Amino acid sequence: KLENATAKAELGRASWKLFHTMMARFPEKPTEEDSLALKTYIKLFARLYPCGDCASHFQQLLKKFPPQIGSRNAAAGWACHVHNQVNERLEKPIFDCNNIGDFYDCGCGDDKKAAGE
Ligand code: FAD
Repeated sequence: KLENATAKAELGRASWKLFHTMMARFPEKPTEEDSLALKTYIKLFARLYPCGDCASHFQQLLKKFPPQIGSRNAAAGWACHVHNQVNERLEKPIFDCNNIGDFYDCGCGDDKKAAGE
């Protein structure tokens, strides 16, 4: 099938949105189980990402920049950094990671409870 750049970009935007929002909601003080869950999620995300070329590039990035899963700040900063690596390769503007703090809001309302509670 022919490459469809519009669909690929749309998938990218949706995926990054979820990715960064997940980091913004990761516990500030995760348990070991939380950290393992995030590490596993990132690894499987990289493996199963639907655009094959993107997935293999991203897997290389994970080797070079292992996921930082020790805290919310570490995870959000790491995700911003690897997204910037992708931006650089695609010749897109670099995002200022100091501004990541309030940028990704899940709209869930309650920061403490799980959704639906
Ligand atoms: P996007 O890069 O999608 O970013 C969306 C928004 O996120 C931006 O508008 C900005 O507000 C914010 N943002 C930008 N940089 C950051 C940052 N560093 N941290 C936090 N927020 C930020 N496309 C390809 O053509 N080839 C590839 O190899 C490729 N690999 C990809 C790998 C992964 C894992 C993902 C998720 C996507 C990949 N994409 C790839 C898609 C590509 O990264 C973009 O999503 C797509 O090109 C649309 O770009 P965009 O300019 O709308 O902004």
